[in-house]
Amino acid sequence: MFGLPSFPKLFIIAAIIAVVWYFIRRGQVARSTQNDASAPQKPGGKGASQKPIEDMVQCKSCGAYFPATSTCSCGQPQR
Ligand SMILES: [Zn+2]
Repeated sequence: MFGLPSFPKLFIIAAIIAVVWYFIRRGQVARSTQNDASAPQKPGGKGASQKPIEDMVQCKSCGAYFPATSTCSCGQPQR
């Protein structure tokens, strides 16, 4: 009888697949852990983009702060 596979055959095939899958998984895990151990650690990501710092001056007319390279939005002349 080589028609439908019987339950013992299916069980044996499933067991073989499970064993093969287990060894493949174990090999992958071992390889990945080796890679993790050998890979250089990434430094903590602190790459915030730095904006150019401008000196802020206080408007003598309205008291608002504005960049020293520009004039106050109130339009009053600075003295
Ligand atoms: Zn002003």
